[in-house]
Amino acid sequence: MQNSIPFQSAVMPEALQLNSSLQFHCHSDIACFNACCKRADITLAPYDVLRLKRRLELTSTEFIRQFTVPFQMDGDGLPGIKLKTDDNGTCLQLAGDAGCGVYSDRPTVCRYYPLALLTLREKDSAIAEERYSLVKETHCQGHAEARVLSITDYRTEQNCDEFDAKNREWYQLVLKKKSAGPAVGRPPQISLQLFFMASYDIDTFRRFVLSDNFRKTYTLPANFYTEIEQDDEALLAFSYRFLRQVLFGERTIQELAEAWEQRVTQRQEVWEMRRQLEIERRAAAEDDKYRAGNNDDCGCAG
Ligand code: SF4
Ligand code: SF4
Repeated sequence: MQNSIPFQSAVMPEALQLNSSLQFHCHSDIACFNACCKRADITLAPYDVLRLKRRLELTSTEFIRQFTVPFQMDGDGLPGIKLKTDDNGTCLQLAGDAGCGVYSDRPTVCRYYPLALLTLREKDSAIAEERYSLVKETHCQGHAEARVLSITDYRTEQNCDEFDAKNREWYQLVLKKKSAGPAVGRPPQISLQLFFMASYDIDTFRRFVLSDNFRKTYTLPANFYTEIEQDDEALLAFSYRFLRQVLFGERTIQELAEAWEQRVTQRQEVWEMRRQLEIERRAAAEDDKYRAGNNDDCGCAG
């Protein structure tokens, strides 16, 4: 199964649409059953992680550690994660001959296969559009089956809508980041770390949002905190909003005025401390030079 990163490029490739026909059928009696999971290269989106960590009864941090590998999604080091495989390329979720061990919670890429979802934006357009491309691999015999259906019907069969609805905003912000290229520049390391946490490590992100520091920084209503404490999906939706603020400066989460002033004051205090330390360092260096000069001048034999 190929890695089908569902956000490829702002340039429109030749692509299929919802009403395009697909000749394909995958079923447990097919000769190649599971062949795709034995060469798995599966990129995960945030809602995929949520579903899998719940399914495996792990925290997001445990799931990421045990079942994923990191990779860079672009030249700026935007972090992505893929499902871990064994040394032969077999997905760790494959349950022997029985097939996928997490089938009802399988990731978006597995659902779409042999299609790849492409989130695209035409040059000079603000609107992202979804298209599909067909992946034909020689080991996959599903293409030789007689069944023909529309991409709409295939998406319904695979329950893609639910996953796309929960991941869509994230695809769009990743596309925006990739399309912006050098215009936005490489995000600072801290932004990349926040991107990783808010995108994938939802349980750590929850602790971050519920922390005193966060509450002291942003003006959010009390019921927001109650909601995100219990509701993973609401937290995920907020994480996309937060990432837009971090990556693109789209300020939709109001900061408390005092928090801003406090940060400025703290920053000024840090600058002042650094300035004082620099003055002291230079003064000490001057003293050393002076002492060394005096020692040279005094002509004492050591
Ligand atoms: S998650 Fe399931 S369907 Fe996807 S590659 Fe792994 S075993 Fe196959
Ligand atoms: S038909 Fe294709 S998708 Fe289905 S099991 Fe075979 S290789 Fe995998």
